Amino acid sequence: MQYRDFGTTGVKVSALGFGMMRLPTPDGGQGGFSRTEVDEEAAIANLRRAIDAGVNYVDTAYNYSNGKSEIITGKALKDGYREKVNLATKLPIWEVKCEEDFDRILSEQFKKLDVDRIDMYLIHSLSRDKWENVCLKYDIPGRMLKAKESGKVRFIGFSFHDDLETFKEIVDCGTPWDFCQIQLNYLDTENQAGLEGLRYAASKGMGVVVMEPLRGGYLARVPEQVAEVFQKVGKTPVEGALDFLWDLPEVSLLLSGMSAMPQVEENLTYAARSSVGMLNAEEKAAVEQAARMMASAASVPCTGCNYCSVCPKGIAIPKIFETYNSYVAGDGGAKGVYHSEVPKFGAKGSECIGCRACENICPQHIKISEWMPKIDLLFV
Ligand code: SF4
Ligand code: SF4
Repeated sequence: MQYRDFGTTGVKVSALGFGMMRLPTPDGGQGGFSRTEVDEEAAIANLRRAIDAGVNYVDTAYNYSNGKSEIITGKALKDGYREKVNLATKLPIWEVKCEEDFDRILSEQFKKLDVDRIDMYLIHSLSRDKWENVCLKYDIPGRMLKAKESGKVRFIGFSFHDDLETFKEIVDCGTPWDFCQIQLNYLDTENQAGLEGLRYAASKGMGVVVMEPLRGGYLARVPEQVAEVFQKVGKTPVEGALDFLWDLPEVSLLLSGMSAMPQVEENLTYAARSSVGMLNAEEKAAVEQAARMMASAASVPCTGCNYCSVCPKGIAIPKIFETYNSYVAGDGGAKGVYHSEVPKFGAKGSECIGCRACENICPQHIKISEWMPKIDLLFV
């Protein structure tokens, strides 16, 4: 395993971090934000294998796997594993409705994790709205700082899904943030915080954790022509996407939500040979070409996080976007998948009533209520 500086904290983190959101399910699938079913034994085995190979950063959150992820993470870290890792979890900012909620939620998290200290504590999924209407209203940054001073948490930060201007404003708000977590991959270099945000935070001494390095798996399922571009420089599409990020000196670590052992092994192999400045000119050109090809596919930037499972009509939103994205990438079977597979995950887009409950929580700010009937019309 390779290790990198976590900003100016003095902590060395593994180049690969283990994300505990997309946990394995009993049917051999992949869980998510709100999916309750988890193959606990497999989830624990996957995480422990990664830790045995040197992964020392584990990222969970209050809501992952419908609240189960923190409990399973706590169980996985028994038997001496806790001491080997930096444990990160997040404050669900959308659940903060009054002054007392911060302390109540944090103490519940300690119980679920069954630990006496959290290493990295983040405000989850910050946007301008959550920053202005919740964080500032209830002095969440001040409460985070107090938690740090009391020794309950070691480092404080935030995960982020909004525009660059908002990102810089939060970085510069006066709170001595230790780190942040941003979405970055070769398709999102100018989206949300983007490359500029990465460099800005790093220039302030913050550690930067990168999430969605494969945009929820989208960059692993690339069309054949894109796979060939990577093949020419001896890389798989996953390897090319991860190496693009490891190449950057400002990146502290990449998070990957590994739900199956082969995925764990593959990522461990790539992480072990990663380094700053690892891409040569030909490899950089291949990533740029792949980015241009993927961008021209006009896909929807859905990461499959499943936060939109609040939909009152039970619409299979992430599965519908996944199907649409493979359609625009040239998959002729996508229409068939819409009719045969989507119903196994929930209702079709035609059921949308435009309530926008999903849009209020979607970290990618996708206009889901507009897309659902449009995609349905396309496939019908
Ligand atoms: S806008 Fe449509 S897809 Fe979104 S929550 Fe409402 S019914 Fe569901
Ligand atoms: S539509 Fe938004 S909330 Fe739903 S899975 Fe995609 S990115 Fe996540």
